[in-house]
Amino acid sequence: MIVSDLHEKTSLPDPAAPWHHQAIAHVLQVFQTDEQQGLEGPEVERRQQFYGPNEIEAGRGRNTWEIFLDQFKNVMLIMLIVVALISGVIDFVELRANALPEGTVPFKDTIAIMAIVVLNGLLGFMQESRAEKALAALKKMSSPQVRVCRGGQFSEVKAAQLVPGDLMFIEAGSQLSADGLVLEAAQLQVRESALTGEANPVTKRICPVGLAADTPLGDRQNMVFSGTEVLQGRGKILVTATGMSTELGKIAQMLQSVKASQTPLQKRMAHLGKILVTGSLILVILVVVFGSLQVGNFSRIKELIEVSLSMAVAVVPEGLPAVITVTLAIGTQRMVKRQALIRKLPAVETLGSVDTICSDKTGTLTQNKMVVQRLETQDQSLRVTGEGYAPIGEFLSQDQNLNPTQHPEVQQLLRACVLCNDAVLKQDDQDWLIIGDPTEGALLSLAGKGDLFAEALQKEWPRLGEFPFSSERKRMSVICAMPNPDQAESTAAYLLCCKGSPELVLERCQTYQTATGIFPLQAEDRAAILQRNNEMAQAGLRVLGFAQRCLTYVPEAQAEVNAEQEMVWLGLVGMMDAPRPEVKEAVAKCRAAGIRPVMITGDHQLTAQAIAQQLGIATPDAKALTGLELSKLSQVDLEAMVETVSIYARVAPEHKLRIVQALQSRGKFVAMTGDGVNDAPALKQADIGIAMGITGTDVSKEASDMVLLDDNFATIVAATEEGRVVYTNIRHFIQYILGSNIGEVITIAAAPLIGLSEVPLIPLQILWMNLVTDGLPALALAIEPAEPDVMQRRPFNPQESIFARGLGAYILRIGLIFSVISIALMAYSYNAHPDNWKTMVFTTLCLSQMGHAIAVRSRTQLTLTSNPLRNPYLIIAVAATTILQLMLIYVEPLRLFFDTQRLSGQQLLICLGVSTLLFVWVELEKLVIQWYWAWKNPPKSR
Ligand code: ATP
Repeated sequence: MIVSDLHEKTSLPDPAAPWHHQAIAHVLQVFQTDEQQGLEGPEVERRQQFYGPNEIEAGRGRNTWEIFLDQFKNVMLIMLIVVALISGVIDFVELRANALPEGTVPFKDTIAIMAIVVLNGLLGFMQESRAEKALAALKKMSSPQVRVCRGGQFSEVKAAQLVPGDLMFIEAGSQLSADGLVLEAAQLQVRESALTGEANPVTKRICPVGLAADTPLGDRQNMVFSGTEVLQGRGKILVTATGMSTELGKIAQMLQSVKASQTPLQKRMAHLGKILVTGSLILVILVVVFGSLQVGNFSRIKELIEVSLSMAVAVVPEGLPAVITVTLAIGTQRMVKRQALIRKLPAVETLGSVDTICSDKTGTLTQNKMVVQRLETQDQSLRVTGEGYAPIGEFLSQDQNLNPTQHPEVQQLLRACVLCNDAVLKQDDQDWLIIGDPTEGALLSLAGKGDLFAEALQKEWPRLGEFPFSSERKRMSVICAMPNPDQAESTAAYLLCCKGSPELVLERCQTYQTATGIFPLQAEDRAAILQRNNEMAQAGLRVLGFAQRCLTYVPEAQAEVNAEQEMVWLGLVGMMDAPRPEVKEAVAKCRAAGIRPVMITGDHQLTAQAIAQQLGIATPDAKALTGLELSKLSQVDLEAMVETVSIYARVAPEHKLRIVQALQSRGKFVAMTGDGVNDAPALKQADIGIAMGITGTDVSKEASDMVLLDDNFATIVAATEEGRVVYTNIRHFIQYILGSNIGEVITIAAAPLIGLSEVPLIPLQILWMNLVTDGLPALALAIEPAEPDVMQRRPFNPQESIFARGLGAYILRIGLIFSVISIALMAYSYNAHPDNWKTMVFTTLCLSQMGHAIAVRSRTQLTLTSNPLRNPYLIIAVAATTILQLMLIYVEPLRLFFDTQRLSGQQLLICLGVSTLLFVWVELEKLVIQWYWAWKNPPKSR
C-alpha cells in the first residue's frame, strides 16, 4: 500500500501493475515515454533515484559467522582439535596427580594448538571473504550492456542503469535484464526456461490492446522478462519493471553468473587430506596399542600417545589448502590484468593444459574495424577511399572520381546498404562511431560517402518487416514501403532488400541490375560474379552480396523461403578487416608452446585462407574445410581430418560443436571462442569455453569459462601462459610442502627406533613448521614469475595426476633425504649436546626447508645461475622465516612457550651447516638431469 502511495505521489508508475493487460498507447502514456525519442536524461536520473539500480539483490548468503565456522569443518583441523583435547586431558590428569614437571605451564599445548587452529580458521576465513568480494567484483564487470534510446540518441548503457520507461533494443543473443512491453518485434523468439521452466522458445509479438488480465506468465506474448534470452530476431521494448520488481526479482531467483566452484585440484587435495588423516589415525592406534602391550606404566603410555600425536600432526600439511586458494586467486587477478576474465575458477589451472585453440576470425584474429574498399555492380568496378567509419571518401573508377548519384545501379546498391541495416552511425565530437555490427557500420559509412544517410532514407522507406541475420542463414532481408509506388516499374508497393554471403544471395537471384535496366542472369554472369567474389576474398576482403526484389505484399514472418527468391542482383561490396598486429606473434608463441591455433569462421574460405596465411595459422597451400563439406562428413571421417585442418570456413555454429567433439575424441584439450547465441553449446562442450567481452552475446558469456575483455586472440595465449605458470607453481609448492611432512614423520618415528627416550618435536613445534616455516615460503613460491621457457614446453596432460612426471617420486625421495639428514643430526646431538638436541633437530629441519625453498623453484636450472631477485618475495619469506625461527630460540617468552633451548654459536653453526645438505642434494639432482639431457641430446656436429 505504502509503495503504491509513493508511486501516486511521485506520479511514477508502479512496476508491479499488470502491464500486459493494458493497451500499448496507454502504457506509453503512463510511463510518459515518447515512442521514438525515449526518456529525457534528467527524467532518467530522477527515475534512477526513485527506483534504484536495476539489480537483483543478492540473496542471503552465508553470514560472517557461518563463513568462519565453516572453516572448522575441515577434517584436518578437526583432527588438530582432537589432538588439543587429548593433550589437555593428559595435562589435567597430571595436574590432579601433581605429576606435572616443575616449571611446566599446564594446558600450554592445548591452548597453543587451539590458538593455531583458530588462526588457521581466521586465515581461511579472510581468504574466503576476500575471494567472495573478488567474485562479486568480477560479477559486476561481466554485467551486460543494453542498447537504449534516450532523448532521441542511441547508446549502450550498463544494465544496472535501466529505468522503467526506458526504450530498450534487443536482438538474438541478448540476455534480458528488465521486464518490458513489446513495442516492435521482428521474429522475436525468447527462451524463458530460466523463469517458467518451459524449454521451447516463445514467440513474442505486439499486442496493441493488451491481453486478458489473468494470462499466465508463460503466455504473456506481449511482454519480455528479465533473466530470459533472445534466441532469434529483434525487438523494441518499453521497460516496465527493473531490479527486484521484475518477475525474476519477485521469485528471488538469482542469476549468479560467476560461481565459486572447487577446482579439480582442490578436490584432489581435500581427498589427499582425508587419506592423510586416516593414515595418521591408524598410525596413532598402532603406536599406542603396540607400545602399551610392551609397557604397563602410565608415563610410558603418555609418552607413546605424545609420539603418535606428534606424528599425526606432522603428517598433515596444514598450510596447503590456504596456499592453493591464494594461488588460484592470484592467478585470476593476473589474468584479469591481461584482459582475461575467469568465470569458473577451475579454468585457471586447466588453461595450462590447452593444446588446441579454436578461434573465430572476425574481431578475434582481426580488428573488426571494417572499411569498405571495393564496390562491384554489373556496370562499375569501384575502389572506395576513406578511413575509419567517417562517411568521407571517394568512389574511384580506374582512378577517376565517380559520382554515385549519377549511376542508378550504384545508387540502388547504396540504398540497400542503408535499408538492410540495424547499425547506427553517429558523430561524437570529431569521431565517427557506430553502435551495432561493424560490418553494417561500414556499409552506413559507405553509403554516407555517396550522400545517402540512414535518418532520411529510413523515414522515406519505412521498414515493415524483416528476416533477421543469423550465422546459419548468413544473410538478412528487410521489407520497406516504397515512398512513391506509382513510379515503380511494377504495381509493387514494397521493396525487399537482401544482403549476405554472396554465394547464397546470388543463388536466389534470377536477374541483375544495370544502369539501363534489369537483365536475366546467365550461367556465365553467375560464374563471373563468383569469380570476382573469389578475387576479392583472396585479397583478404570480407565480401557481401546485395540483391532486391519488388513485392506487392508484405510477406509473413516465416515466409523467407518464398520471399527471398527471384531477386535482382545488385552487386558486391568488399571490406577490409585487417588482422590484429599482435596476433602474428601470439600465433608463433602458440606454436612454440605446442598449441595448435585453428581458425573457425563464417566467412568465405578464400578470405579465411588469406588471413590465416598472413597470421601464420596455415601455410599458403593449406586447405580450408567448408561447412558444406563438413556437414557431409561422418563424425568418424571428421575425427580423421580434424588434427590436420587448421581453417574451417563458412561454418555454422552447430559445426563448431562437431569440431570440438572430434578434437576431444582425438584426446585434444580444446579452448574454443564464440560470440553468438548459438555458439553456447560449443562453448559448453569445449574444455575452456571463451566468450567475447565486447561483441559477445550475454548467452555466450553465460556459457563460457573465460571472457576476453578485449576480444583478442593474443589474450587467450597470454591467459594460457598464466595457466601454465599457476600449475607449475602449484607443483613447486606441493613438492616443497609434502617433502617436508614426510621428513618430519620419519624423523619422529625414528626417535624411539634408534633408542631415544623422547620425541624430538612437540606438536606445537610441528604446527609451527607446517604453518609458518613451510607456509610463508610456499606462499612466495605461489607468486613465482613465469620461467623463461614456460611457453616453449608441451602443454600439461590434463589426465595426469598432480604427482605425475616424477613429482610423487621427488616428494618421497626428498622426504627420505630430509629425514636421513635430520636423523643423523639427531643421533649425533643426542649424545654430543644432550641438553639441546631437540632444539638442534627442530632448527635443522626448519633451516633445511629454507634451502629447499630456494632450490625447488626449478627442476633443471641451478640456483647459482638463476637471478636471485626474480622472486624477491621468496627472499623476504626465507629471511623473515629464519629470523622468526631464531626468535623462537633466543627470545625468552617465545623460547619458554615453544619449549626450545638457547643454542650456542657452535651448535647453531652445526645446524646451519647440516641444513645446507638438502639444498646441495637438490642442486646435485639438477646437475644429473642436465648431464642426462646433454648425453641424450648431444650437440649436432657441423
Ligand atoms: P567469424 O565466425 O569469424 O566471426 P563471420 O563474422 O564471417 O566470422 P558470421 O557472423 O557467422 O561469421 O557471418 C557469416 C557470414 O554471414 C559472413 O561471412 C557474411 O557473409 C554474412 N554476414 C555477416 N554479417 C552479416 C550481416 N549483418 N548481414 C548480412 N550478412 C552478414
